Parts: sequence; C-alpha cells; structure tokens
Amino acid sequence: MVKKIIGALLFVLLVLGSSGCTRPKPNPPAQTPLTTINPANETDQQESPNKSSTPLSPLVNQAVPILYYHSVMLENGNDLRMPPEAFEAQMAYLQDKGFHSVSLEQLYQASYKGGALPAKPFVITFDDGYVDNYTTAYPILKKHGFTATVFMVTSYINGAAFMSWPQLKELVANGWEIEGHTTNHPFLTKIDPSTVFSELRTSKEILEKELGQPVNFLAYPNGDLNAKVVQVVKDTGYLMAVTTARGWADDKTDAYHVHRVYCFASMGMNEFTRRLQNPNY
Ligand SMILES: [Zn+2]
Repeated sequence: MVKKIIGALLFVLLVLGSSGCTRPKPNPPAQTPLTTINPANETDQQESPNKSSTPLSPLVNQAVPILYYHSVMLENGNDLRMPPEAFEAQMAYLQDKGFHSVSLEQLYQASYKGGALPAKPFVITFDDGYVDNYTTAYPILKKHGFTATVFMVTSYINGAAFMSWPQLKELVANGWEIEGHTTNHPFLTKIDPSTVFSELRTSKEILEKELGQPVNFLAYPNGDLNAKVVQVVKDTGYLMAVTTARGWADDKTDAYHVHRVYCFASMGMNEFTRRLQNPNY
C-alpha cells in the first residue's frame, strides 16, 4: 500500500516536472501572494520575459528600472542636462528592445496591489519640471510611444526655465503624471518638522487642485531623507516615494525607499544600456 502511494506520488511529480509550465496563467489564483518585484528569485520568467504571449502579466520575479532625468538640452559640462540627441538615442534603444513605459501608478499597483504590467516595463521620470521636458522630451517620447512622470517643484511653475500650468495640463491630458517634489526643493532632513509637513502638503494640494488628479507619489528633493521625513511623507498621504539610490525598483525596499536609475549627460550609450540590463548594475 505504502509503495503504491509513493509510486503514485512519483508519477505525479514526473508529469508535473516534464510539463514545461512556461506560460504564466492570465489570472493567478486568489491565494497567490501579492505580485511583487523580485530580481533575485531564480525562475525562467526573469530570463525570458518576452516569451510570454500574455500582453499584461502580474509583476512576478521582476524588477523595474525607473529612469530619472532632469533637463533635456545641450549644455556642455552639465550632467543634469541630457543632450536631446543622446536622449533620442536612448528612447530609440528602449523602443527597439521592446520596452514599454508605464506610469508610477501602474508600477505602484503592480508592486504592492497585485496589478499587472506589460512586458519589459520601465518608468521615465523627470525631476524639478524643466520647460524642456515639455518642449523637447515630450515630442521625442510621443514619437516612441512613451509617457513619463514629472516630479514638479510647485514654486517653480511658470518660472522662466520651468513648465507652466497649461503645459503641465497638456502633459496630463496626454497620459503623463505630475507628482510631488515639494514646494521649494529643500533638504527635508535639514528643516523643522512643521516645514517638512507644509512643503509636502501644500505642493500636493496645489497640484491636485490645478490638474484635477490625485498626487500620490513623491521624489525626495536632493535624495535627502531619514525616518522622520518618511513618516511625514506617509502622514501627508503619499503612497510611494522614490529616492536617488541606485538600482531598479523591487519589493526588497518598502514603498517609501524606491530606487531609481540615474541618467546623466556624460554616461554614454554603453553605460545607459548596462544600467538597463542588470537590476543591481
Ligand atoms: Zn529635484
């Protein structure tokens, strides 16, 4: 009797082991844990995400690069300004390799709420809200079928080098996200807690009022944060916050310490592509 049971078990294992489960189920069973980003998990999905025939998949065993830029214009010697030609080449590379830009909302849902993402997802973010995000980056991204997220410093809006409300509204109407980057871009760990609160709260409220959509995400100005700042970020209602820590977004960090991939003018194409091939570049 025992031998028969063991024999049956071995048979079942043999059948399962040889069935080659390469196609992820479109709808995972309800008891599946929250779909998460996990570059270290060793499965074949990470190696060959393109082999899935499902357009939208739960974000399992995968990390997502969140690129971050500032300005897109030519200024020799200023790493914060990506030359338009280099930016164009980077976007062409991403399109050619089959990457799909997703919003932070999509990433948040996939990372923490069991949502789904297209194959080879990535996020484009711009910090501070330079006017060339609208005049230069926007047409290039549109050409390649990508959208982006701007972390807007609200006191900069309508300033000479920065975007205006009508420009921000047009981006929103075309699928971009405008998210929080405080009112005045301070070092949040260097100011008193009540000012941290007002910097985060006031900027969030004005963006929501003017643009008519929720502002749930934040980029810490100067990448400056500590535990107290994170607590205020939570208290003011942000759901997720990105840092300047290097690496792809994954579920090893909580929603308030999300890593990003720095893109700077002197990086060159080789370094750009290297950062898009290894979550721990
Ligand atoms: Zn900034």
